[in-house]
Amino acid sequence: MKRIGILTSGGDSPGMNAAIRSVVRKAIYHNLEVFGIYYGYAGLINGDIKKLEIGSVGDIIHRGGTMLYTARCEEFKTLDGQLKGIEQLKKFGIDALVVIGGDGSFQGAKKLTEHGFPTIGVPGTIDNDISGTDFTIGFDTALNTVIDAIDKIRDTATSHERTYVIEVMGRDAGDIALWSGLADGAETILIPESEYNMEEIIARLKRGRERGKKHSIIVVAEGVGSGVDIGKEIQDKTNFETRVTVLGHIQRGGSPTASDRVLASRLGAYAVELLISGEAGKMVGIEKNQLVYHSIDEALAKKHSVDEQMYQLSKELSI
Ligand code: ADP
Repeated sequence: MKRIGILTSGGDSPGMNAAIRSVVRKAIYHNLEVFGIYYGYAGLINGDIKKLEIGSVGDIIHRGGTMLYTARCEEFKTLDGQLKGIEQLKKFGIDALVVIGGDGSFQGAKKLTEHGFPTIGVPGTIDNDISGTDFTIGFDTALNTVIDAIDKIRDTATSHERTYVIEVMGRDAGDIALWSGLADGAETILIPESEYNMEEIIARLKRGRERGKKHSIIVVAEGVGSGVDIGKEIQDKTNFETRVTVLGHIQRGGSPTASDRVLASRLGAYAVELLISGEAGKMVGIEKNQLVYHSIDEALAKKHSVDEQMYQLSKELSI
């Protein structure tokens, strides 16, 4: 193996740049050449590919987004698209590939390996919804962005004695809602993995008011339903002034936290090590602070699960 490729795909996440930097420098350290593939699988099909040097990844470790850009590409879900991608890789003399992205991007990496092209996946998504790793690159930064926003909302919620519903990202996974809700002392956290009982929420809000609480914060993962609808139902049933904030895409941006930069640097370098040792069709991850790898097949087959004990704790602490 002499030349590796790298791409970022699907939804971006803070820390992807630190991962790119790590892959590029680790590979060059081991006398490999690195080619950057721009705009994910779309750029792979179109041959949007350029050589990266040590300096190409300078001054990016602290930046959100991805210097290689990203895209969603329907064509790559077809056999024809995948074979076109492999043709481009061969044209550029690339022997192996690192894909940084979420589970959709891992599906693409799995297909490449099945067609005989060695590929390793690095988990980059704010949702923390990939099994085979305790944390994904970008989750910690998104969490801190949410906490910063909730802290600010809490100030105004207290001044006006309002109930606030805050909708955070997480279509299928409640990790952002659970961790931010726990870190911010939310009264109620609604996650897609668990049913909720509106009457219980109302009773809890009323109990809080009776003992003199000035504000209430309810964190809702987008997968549960619309924060706006939930806020309206709460206002109708309690008569408490209720406001809704949908945090949206600010959760995907910003300078990565130290944790995400370190995680990205470790995972990126480990992906290169695996390729050098002849592995393919694997994803890298971190479990109990140890670097691990699993087959992409297995990781995709297993659903990421939310930490039940933590969810229970959040309920116990917000009685
Ligand atoms: P994420 O990686 O953040 O989960 P997506 O689910 O949008 O984002 O996937 C990113 C890209 O990965 C898709 O646009 C497509 O190009 C590729 N991809 C997703 N699913 C498959 C699949 N089953 N086979 C091949 N490629 C896929």
